[in-house]
Amino acid sequence: MDIRNNSYPLLRRTVSVSNQCRYICYGCPFVKDLLIKELFTRGLLWTPHLYDHISVQHFMPYETTRNILLRVSVRCSQMQNHFQFIAKLPKARPEESKHNHSFRNEVLFYSIRKNFRNRIFPNCYFGNHSPLKSAHPVVVLEDLTKCGFAPFERKLNKSRLIICVKLLATFHANTYRLQKENNNIYVFSLFEILKRESKKERIEQRKERVRVFLSSTIMSELDNVLRTKIKRKLKKVELLKTDIASTIIHGCFTRSNIFVKYDDQGCRTKLIDFQAIKYDSPSIDFGRIFLTNLPNEHNVSKLENMFKIILHTYLEKLKKDYPRVIFTLVRQDIVHNMILSYINLNDEEKEAIENHKPILHMLNKIGSFD
Ligand SMILES: [Zn+2]
Repeated sequence: MDIRNNSYPLLRRTVSVSNQCRYICYGCPFVKDLLIKELFTRGLLWTPHLYDHISVQHFMPYETTRNILLRVSVRCSQMQNHFQFIAKLPKARPEESKHNHSFRNEVLFYSIRKNFRNRIFPNCYFGNHSPLKSAHPVVVLEDLTKCGFAPFERKLNKSRLIICVKLLATFHANTYRLQKENNNIYVFSLFEILKRESKKERIEQRKERVRVFLSSTIMSELDNVLRTKIKRKLKKVELLKTDIASTIIHGCFTRSNIFVKYDDQGCRTKLIDFQAIKYDSPSIDFGRIFLTNLPNEHNVSKLENMFKIILHTYLEKLKKDYPRVIFTLVRQDIVHNMILSYINLNDEEKEAIENHKPILHMLNKIGSFD
């Protein structure tokens, strides 16, 4: 459907706007009427007199996401060019999203991304988290699919898991370095915000997750010795006693949040979605990508071998990217908190795993419950 956009006086009368919005959504009108203007004011778009077509599309079904995700394309035929980007907005209307800390954290994270030494994120053209006047909470991001990146969609094989774990190590190496250097006010503020909001929430969340796990059927199927050992360990985990190498972690390090591109330079990866960032144990990220991509293997020794290879790969990359990291502490934190990352998996992730018992026996063998 093409409609004339007369609500934006700076646009030429001939500008057309495609919009296939089928939802009760404030995002599409906001992008068309205000965001384009905001980007022009900030020098990110050409003068509006040059546009002749704006297309706004939901690229993820509205019902399945907690945000409004829009692919926006602004065409300028005079310059034979078009500018394409992703606009991400919280689904709650701006006036309701004042307390949306996760969206705020993502915007704050993108604002410090230039302090990372590696280009592992999409470009962020603009970000705003406070609902002020016309400026609604929004992040405007590079459309990675336009430059050939695609997300990992299926369960990862070993070589792909290694690619993802190396990306994770690069991410953590940067957050460990930034934490240690402590010479940037914005980075410092983000660490402080996350530390403050994380501690109380973390203890409460852990207590709840431990409670759910202890009453699960998986737990009831284990032998007495292992069950007692896990219970004892979880007491320490829920009181944060096993946290010895916390830093800013991604919080939802899944294969669907990793985009990959294979070209002449080899394989390049980008990480997206920072709404779950928190100050916590690195094992939560490591364990999630590892456990959700393990083969359905019932041989405990083979699982143990796989764990050792993947952890070794992660630690070597971590050391390479930040040689000053105390990797023995990181190693210890990951091994001792693997049960934490396991109980942190969501229901869907847990259901996709068939070899729960061998995994728990493997964690016992690597010393995770000691
Ligand atoms: Zn819409």
